[in-house]
Amino acid sequence: MDKISIVVPCYNEEESVPYFYEEITKISKEMKEIEFEYLFINDGSKDKTLEIVKEYARQDSRVRFVSFSRNFGKEAAMYAGLQASEGDYVAIMDVDLQDPPDLLPEMYNTLLEKKYDCVATKRQTRKGENPIISFCSRLFYKLINKMTKTEIVDGARDYRLMTRQMVNSILEVTEYNRFSK
Ligand code: UDP
Ligand code: MG
Repeated sequence: MDKISIVVPCYNEEESVPYFYEEITKISKEMKEIEFEYLFINDGSKDKTLEIVKEYARQDSRVRFVSFSRNFGKEAAMYAGLQASEGDYVAIMDVDLQDPPDLLPEMYNTLLEKKYDCVATKRQTRKGENPIISFCSRLFYKLINKMTKTEIVDGARDYRLMTRQMVNSILEVTEYNRFSK
């Protein structure tokens, strides 16, 4: 049975964690042929995130967690999650449901069928976003793509599903100032 680890960085997310848990559990029920591991990374939250995650871990053997002593940022949380993950496949998801868990079955099927190492996601529209944030994001992608030779896709998200081989390769890159996208 294949195992998928879901790496979930969390910073002050006491309100989101229960909704996320509910949604990912629905998806795990749909994907009966897969064993799941939910790996919450508490990135130095100052609210009740850690207590809530600990409670889930007590009740549900699929839930594991890593907890940082202070806030290190999402990139560090993702890296710690990849290090701690045990699955044959690993997905990274935001806990606030901006990365829809219900895309996971399609991502998994595509990965298998096409024999890809990674299926990634990007946002198609910035509808509903604060116009100032939207403007700054667009400007960021324009500038960064002018300044560097590596293409960085506008709207790319960290939500991706990877094979163990890819995760291990990423873990070999130990640089400190990471930018995964
Ligand atoms: N996050 C984190 N550490 C941080 C900031 C954010 O682990 O220092 C997590 C956060 O809890 C969420 C994800 O990273 O699961 C994305 O954060 P957020 O929703 O704030 O980012 P945005 O939606 O603005 O890209
Ligand atoms: Mg968000």
